[in-house]
Amino acid sequence: MFVYQSSESLTFANQPVFFAVTDRFGGVSNKPFDTLNLAYHVNDDKTLVDINRKRVLQEISLCSQSRSPLASLYYLTQIHSNRSIVLDQMLAESLPHADSIHLGEADAIITALPQRLCMVMVADCNPILLYDTFHHILAVVHAGRLGVFEEIIPHTLEQMSALYHTQAKDILMYIGPSIRACCYEVGEDVKKEAFKKGFGAMINDTSRLDLIACLKQQYKQLGVADAQVEIDPRCSCCSPMLYSYRRESHTGRFALIAMLQQH
Ligand SMILES: [Zn+2]
Repeated sequence: MFVYQSSESLTFANQPVFFAVTDRFGGVSNKPFDTLNLAYHVNDDKTLVDINRKRVLQEISLCSQSRSPLASLYYLTQIHSNRSIVLDQMLAESLPHADSIHLGEADAIITALPQRLCMVMVADCNPILLYDTFHHILAVVHAGRLGVFEEIIPHTLEQMSALYHTQAKDILMYIGPSIRACCYEVGEDVKKEAFKKGFGAMINDTSRLDLIACLKQQYKQLGVADAQVEIDPRCSCCSPMLYSYRRESHTGRFALIAMLQQH
């Protein structure tokens, strides 16, 4: 069910934050979504996705050692933007109780509330966790090529700073499995766009774009050091246990799910 989780991370050791990255096993979806697809928007059977999400909720309740069972999974309609939604007390109270709670159209969720499981779904895009260790604030981010080019990480950090006084020096970051330069060949339009955005050096001589290198350039410019960042070694397109849009086109989504723990 999980390809990786915070209990295995040295970067996040002893931090009061939980995260897990799902794989494609342990669910009930049929081909081509077999089996733990967590997304509704890919035309999978909604009742099966609901069962998958419920199973993930139960498993996280167990392995995060939560005192009470976790009630809900907060998720977005992801639109490849640089927009974030802040899950604060007022918003949380305005939403109906459910296993899955839709927050709206955006590509990042920021929260200071503990015990709220926030999810971003991917199949090659970068699932990213930002954690402010000083103010105990979390963000989960969906950053594909468009999101990276539209600077979703700088925008999310800016939002965290504006609302909660987050500083780059206090950030820990986890970049989950995503398509890597080994598999991400891009066309002329994307190449042109990359040069325009200052990422020309991140395209190699076989037209492969290295989005991790783009992200590194961005977080360093923000004042986040390599030592504050954990980069998952997995390429989603090379890993059959993960969904990959590039490899399969019509497929499901795996997820990065994270929450603040009480401390
Ligand atoms: Zn690869």
